[in-house]
Amino acid sequence: MLNCPHHVQWVRRVPGGLHQCILCFRVVTKQDIYPKYEDLSDEFRRQWDAHEATRGQADAGDSAHGPGA
Ligand SMILES: [Zn+2]
Repeated sequence: MLNCPHHVQWVRRVPGGLHQCILCFRVVTKQDIYPKYEDLSDEFRRQWDAHEATRGQADAGDSAHGPGA
């Protein structure tokens, strides 16, 4: 099994608010990447969060979350 560290240089933003490693082609989360998300720059984290925040916006018709947030 491929042991890929998912270095941030290989991680690309993909549609749906997801991030994908172009080396192993897996969708990764901030817990999966290297260096650790906490050790990355504020600018990187801001862009990561901004892209991740777009996740689910395409599912605007889904009322499962309900009102209240
Ligand atoms: Zn990878």
